[in-house]
Amino acid sequence: MVVPPSSCFVVELRSIAADQVNLKWLRRYNPFVNAADLTQRAQALLRSVYGYPEFRAGQLEVIESVLDGRDSLVLMPTGGGKSLCYQIPAMLRPGVGIVISPLIALMQDQVQALRQLGVAAAFLNSSVPFHEQREIEGALKRGELDLLYLAPERLLSGEAGTLELLRALDVALIAIDEAHCVSQWGHDFRQDYLGLHVLAEHFPGVPRMALTATADVRTRGEITSRLALKEPRRFISGFDRPNICYRVQVKGSPGANLQAFLDGHRDEAGIVYCLSRRKVEETAQQLVEAGFDALPYHAGLSSDLRQRHQNRFQRDEGVVIVATVAFGMGIDKPDVRFVAHTDLPKSVEAYYQETGRAGRDGLPAEAWMSYGLQDVVRLRQMADQSEADEQHKRIERTRLDALLGWCEVTTCRRAALLSYFGEDYAGPCGNCDICLNPPKTWDGTVAAQKFLSCVHRTGERFGAAHVIDVLRGKDTAKVRQHRHERLSTYGIGADFSDRQWRSVARQVVVRGFARVEAERFGALMLTSAARPLLRGEERLELREEARIDKPKRNSSPRPEAYAVSAADEPLWQALKARRIELADQAGVPPYVIFHDATLKEFARVRPDSQEAMLALHGVGETKLKRYGEAMLEVITLHPRVD
Ligand code: ADP
Ligand code: ZN
Repeated sequence: MVVPPSSCFVVELRSIAADQVNLKWLRRYNPFVNAADLTQRAQALLRSVYGYPEFRAGQLEVIESVLDGRDSLVLMPTGGGKSLCYQIPAMLRPGVGIVISPLIALMQDQVQALRQLGVAAAFLNSSVPFHEQREIEGALKRGELDLLYLAPERLLSGEAGTLELLRALDVALIAIDEAHCVSQWGHDFRQDYLGLHVLAEHFPGVPRMALTATADVRTRGEITSRLALKEPRRFISGFDRPNICYRVQVKGSPGANLQAFLDGHRDEAGIVYCLSRRKVEETAQQLVEAGFDALPYHAGLSSDLRQRHQNRFQRDEGVVIVATVAFGMGIDKPDVRFVAHTDLPKSVEAYYQETGRAGRDGLPAEAWMSYGLQDVVRLRQMADQSEADEQHKRIERTRLDALLGWCEVTTCRRAALLSYFGEDYAGPCGNCDICLNPPKTWDGTVAAQKFLSCVHRTGERFGAAHVIDVLRGKDTAKVRQHRHERLSTYGIGADFSDRQWRSVARQVVVRGFARVEAERFGALMLTSAARPLLRGEERLELREEARIDKPKRNSSPRPEAYAVSAADEPLWQALKARRIELADQAGVPPYVIFHDATLKEFARVRPDSQEAMLALHGVGETKLKRYGEAMLEVITLHPRVD
């Protein structure tokens, strides 16, 4: 049976308290200790609680600043390790650390994981039964909690009285996660976040932190002012996710299909994004038929079913979720091995955020996307026909153009992605489709001229499909109806295939020589940029559709990125099986017991004692106590054969 994490709260808290005896010396707070001492304690907590040997870039600086009582704005890529930045100071400063998080699922996950680490954490929200809420409040008043997770509406609703309760307590810090939700321009805007500025008045002197993985320069300003951060220190780490390999393919080119991509990811967990509910259903069905453990997820399913599918994705191994963008926020699964987009996402920001769900554990992961002219037409239409005001629409269009430009780049994709976020990257990265398989270009001037003049001759009233029919001299009903066989451009493009013309059409649109008119059912129209090209004053280099080869994974970005050798494979499988048993007993997902990276270390190093285990990545004292014995047993049963 799956036990929700809060149901045995009191029992668990006691066991945590017992586990923590040996941490007490670290925690006894003394306001007069010097900064160097606090830093040392932070490091000791990292090792003994989390089992990590050292901080990642940027973490310690944030922690020191919070311990110093300063407000901060923390920008780190997904998987960069933001949580530690507030969890550790919350344990070191007196009082409880409050974490504001937008989604209940995310809170549950984090709290579960923290309790497995032996940290006294709880969440309060409407899903927690009343008597447990009382217990948590009691624990708070007695100063027994290190961390309390809350949704913003819970904190701000006068009815629940949470704010009053907290004001009467020592508060170590307030961390506002997913802080970009305050931005009305962003796609994750949450009304409740706007109310959070009141915390500045209610908790003077308590350091507040705003954390996010997506914030352009404007959003950063918005976060600071809307949350009323006081002279925040800004910590902006790079956006690079070196373990994610980026690949973009054009729909219809040979081998560019989801199935071919997924065949390289059998038995791995991943997310497939589709634009519509119908496509989600169809795709999930196809994948099931092809032998994948695939589940649909979209807003049209009952919330019960959605929850079940999400749980299976979180808990079981190798589940593929096929979803609309409704799925994702609040997913904290570290071992997602791929994210596939079968349609264009809405913007580079959305793409970065969605693909960012892959590979949080630092092991190699893949972001794959396929797109075609139809996507471009549809998204342009959606942007034009939306209810938004002109300013909003303009922003949407610029965002879409930026995304399309990125799809068509001919230089390192990672460098282009990072440059979109204002970051200089000394590429090439060697871990994207362009680096692994540089596209060829060809002189497309004449082809573009033919295409554009055919758009013009047909009266700028038709979509690409008909224009291509005319160019290729096809005898269709539409051609005859409009007498297009009489045009001078009829048949002048018979030397190219449909696919080649679609490629020309797409690139001509993406590069801004023609645009899609939403009001005229997606008809193509020339822009002023087309004139010099048509007059022969400009030349145009076009991209050849890339050959589809599977990129070799040639970079191992982090030390934990081990592949399991054939000799270690049986042990790795046995460790995974044991982990599932332990996870079932504890009612948590397997990765909460130990991450893949840690299990792989077990399989590779084969520690023969608890001490040897403790030295490995991801093994803290509490987990060692709880699971060390069980893991050692499995390892002993699999002696190394040389
Ligand atoms: P974010 O919230 O920034 O997306 P998390 O805080 O969830 O990222 O961290 C991502 C993963 O990296 C987690 O599994 C976390 O335990 C791990 N991690 C964080 N800091 C370190 C570190 N210093 N060393 C090793 N692993 C770390
Ligand atoms: Zn690259």
